[in-house]
Amino acid sequence: MDLMLEVKNLKTGFDIDGQIYHAVDDVSFSVEPGKIVGIVGESGCGKSVMSLSVMQLLPKGIGQITGGEIKFQGKNIENYTNNQMNQIRGKDISMIFQEPMTSLNPVFTIGSQIEEIILNHNKISKAEARERAINLLRQVGIPRVETIIDEYPHQLSGGMRQRIMIAIAIACQPQLLIADEPTTALDVTVQAQILELLKKIQEQNNMSIILITHDLGVVAELCDEVIIMYAGKIVERTNVDKLFYDPQHPYTKLLMASIPRLDIEVDTLETIQGIVPSLKNMPKVGCRFMDRCPSAMPQCKTITPKLAEITDNHEVACLLFEASNSEKGVS
Ligand code: SF4
Ligand code: MG
Repeated sequence: MDLMLEVKNLKTGFDIDGQIYHAVDDVSFSVEPGKIVGIVGESGCGKSVMSLSVMQLLPKGIGQITGGEIKFQGKNIENYTNNQMNQIRGKDISMIFQEPMTSLNPVFTIGSQIEEIILNHNKISKAEARERAINLLRQVGIPRVETIIDEYPHQLSGGMRQRIMIAIAIACQPQLLIADEPTTALDVTVQAQILELLKKIQEQNNMSIILITHDLGVVAELCDEVIIMYAGKIVERTNVDKLFYDPQHPYTKLLMASIPRLDIEVDTLETIQGIVPSLKNMPKVGCRFMDRCPSAMPQCKTITPKLAEITDNHEVACLLFEASNSEKGVS
């Protein structure tokens, strides 16, 4: 089966005072057609930088892809020009962000913003584009579509604006949707509705989705596969069942322990001590999680763990596993 997206050894660097620091450091993963892949980690772990790299929307003159490959439907796109990317962005791959107010244009009506993207990628009349916009707004569950289509973003609630962003993102029926913290800014009931909507649209359009989140609850709800990132690297990757029933990386285990659970009464939530190292303070060798890891060993300071398969479709980057592998004679 052809992959929808294949990222191989991707490195994305940022220029800080004339020196390049890598926010995404040798990351490889793939997304199959029709699957939802969650990318999870705290702020500053490289999740958003990775998706901006795929879209080639890194801040100009500061962020750049310095190595690796990005293949979309079998074609390498990492060296595409801005013109080439414009053909793909919004049409084949589209993106929704956390805060819809910053991505919607306040001076244009909802309808004109949806029509614009449809007209950019399709040779159809304005009337046909409006017709499609109306259908899209219905598809994403907007009430009173005939009125709202001529309203401005500020007239709508946060949840409604996020529905509009989803309508814009799926206007050209992309095969891949990247959703970066799509529900973080919304209240809990609206979050659930938006997640349900994404799932419904994914099934209707059979798209692939990359869902970036710091919330494992969202992952459990929606994803097929999960990637856990820490400090610019993937530390664990597997399917959603294995991740929840058999998490292996110490970081994943701590993330799990910090999810509020309805079935267990706890006095305090376990939160992870310490912070993600900043780009400038990233250790050159050893495990980047070392300072916060309850299982850290002396060698974690000097040996950099590699992502390796520990069981079928379950990869972990941690020396606890490399040690047991080498004892078993597996390299
Ligand atoms: Fe912890 Fe060492 Fe594993 Fe890193 S390599 S996660 S520090 S045990
Ligand atoms: Mg982010």
